[in-house]
Amino acid sequence: MQGFHKASDFVKSEVGNARHKGFFKAVRSNLSDLACISTLGQNTQRSTPLKILAISDMVVDRLYSTQVTERFHDVEMILGCGDLPYEYLEFLVSSLNIPLLYVPGNHDPAYDEKIKTAHAEGCDNLDREMRSVKGLNIAGVGGSIRYRPGAPNQYTQSQMYSRMSTFVPKLLWYLPTHGNVLDIMIAHSPPRGIHDDEDQAHVGFSAFKDFIQTFKPRYFLHGHTTVYKNNIVSPITMLGTTTVINVYPYRIIEI
Ligand SMILES: [Zn+2]
Repeated sequence: MQGFHKASDFVKSEVGNARHKGFFKAVRSNLSDLACISTLGQNTQRSTPLKILAISDMVVDRLYSTQVTERFHDVEMILGCGDLPYEYLEFLVSSLNIPLLYVPGNHDPAYDEKIKTAHAEGCDNLDREMRSVKGLNIAGVGGSIRYRPGAPNQYTQSQMYSRMSTFVPKLLWYLPTHGNVLDIMIAHSPPRGIHDDEDQAHVGFSAFKDFIQTFKPRYFLHGHTTVYKNNIVSPITMLGTTTVINVYPYRIIEI
């Protein structure tokens, strides 16, 4: 625990100059004695798997249907990876009556608590937040790479490093009191080099790749890129011990 405090202080001091890859490198080298790093991979809070419905990018008729309660009666949580109409999320959360956590994509409005249409009612916007739900620690970061000036939820590689560097200290305080393991990270964009593409709008974030290598979440779920393009071969890729899954347009995951 002593190491944790030291590490957390270090991270806070680094927030101001975190606009480069060296931030995560420095975090890793200072967190070697941190409990949440050394015990990753084992969740002690759940003894049975949880069935999750993960969704992104496209409204699916099979889900946007009155029969959804029959078809998905055994699902216990919904995770939204962005670019979905909020009415669709609200329909699912009220039909299935289970927790729905989501991050915004580049086709969603910027979050504003005063504007009703800027968030999905009854759902939990997880952009740079974390929750413990049904025994799983879940965190999220929304947005895509910037490809259009002034558009909401779009960030340059540097801006995403900065966003992550203010999120990391929160995570460091949170994990040790919630079982140490980050079970699931949800994002809209993929990490750089995994399930991403070379065109301007679909490049993944380097900060996500560094984050995965530092915090080793059990799962990293994302959307934004479609899985049927010739150059995107598999929607499931291992990065170290983390299973990276493109959930487009929906996927049932047992964790
Ligand atoms: Zn997108």
